[in-house]
Amino acid sequence: MLKKYKRCVFCSSNNLIIQKDQFNINNFYLKSIISDFKLSKNFLKKIKVYKCKSCHIIQNNPWFDENFCRRIYSNVYGQHHRGWTNLIRYIKKKETPNHGKLFDILNKNLKINTYAEFNSPFMGMLLNFFHNETKKNSKVDFFFNNILHYLTSRQVAGLPKNIQKISNSKSKKALNYINNFKNRNIKEKTKKYLFEDNSILSWGQNDNYKSVNSKSFAAEFFNIEISKIRKLKKKIDLFGIFHTLDHTFEPKKIFDFAIGNSKCLVVYCHVDERLNKQHLFSITKDFLKYLKKKKLYSLDITSYIDKKFTSPELYFVCSKQKNYINKIKSYVSKQK
Ligand SMILES: [Zn+2]
Repeated sequence: MLKKYKRCVFCSSNNLIIQKDQFNINNFYLKSIISDFKLSKNFLKKIKVYKCKSCHIIQNNPWFDENFCRRIYSNVYGQHHRGWTNLIRYIKKKETPNHGKLFDILNKNLKINTYAEFNSPFMGMLLNFFHNETKKNSKVDFFFNNILHYLTSRQVAGLPKNIQKISNSKSKKALNYINNFKNRNIKEKTKKYLFEDNSILSWGQNDNYKSVNSKSFAAEFFNIEISKIRKLKKKIDLFGIFHTLDHTFEPKKIFDFAIGNSKCLVVYCHVDERLNKQHLFSITKDFLKYLKKKKLYSLDITSYIDKKFTSPELYFVCSKQKNYINKIKSYVSKQK
């Protein structure tokens, strides 16, 4: 069930040093893992935290093998709770996900005609762009419900023929509503993309709400183009990775793709030294030193966005070009 990871999952260095302090913190993920797999309470103590001397990430080792990893993120906890909660809060209260002043800062200092995110659609700023592009008094709850109707209306396998027929006409009605809503209320200014790697370390095939998958929903709601990591012809103005870098087995490949194909990258992640056992790894604040060594420009903007944190988290911007980071740096230092 557990597998030994000999190398750093990010930079592949074998210079992993065991951490002096080891923690066993319980949370709802771990409780469900223990209960569903019928594990003893001490089982998770076998998992120890190591630190990579090269890129400064911390990594659990041994950690769940691929079979159990898939079951954790697809079956034990298939739904990405935090993501869907963000969306539902927006629909009910028109409150965008809490990233403090992050969106304002980036929007003021970068010209964002194209924007991309990775793997999970409701964690970052796609809702901010949607909010800015949608008429203030529009009925987003109707829009939301019609998308759910449309995407479930053809789930009719096994039902009588007459019900299938009724569902088909419901489906057409819902799609009409969706298209009318878009025409009347949304003025798209920023082209949006979602890149995915379908990692078994991430919520995916079973990341559903009322039988609707998050990516199918997001494709209708945000009008985003969803695709695999691929060669892009043109650089994306801003790329966001919101709590998904530590949910892939190829974090370096994703990071390199994002930084190589965008003018500016913003990353939001955990930096808790008491690494939770449902995570394979976490980056740390010292990760920015590694980026500097790799000749990338970065800026920790956690303290500039005016957000209250309930656990240690980090926001940083990063670019191959100095000018983007300098512009943000001079803006936020004047605001303080
Ligand atoms: Zn490393």
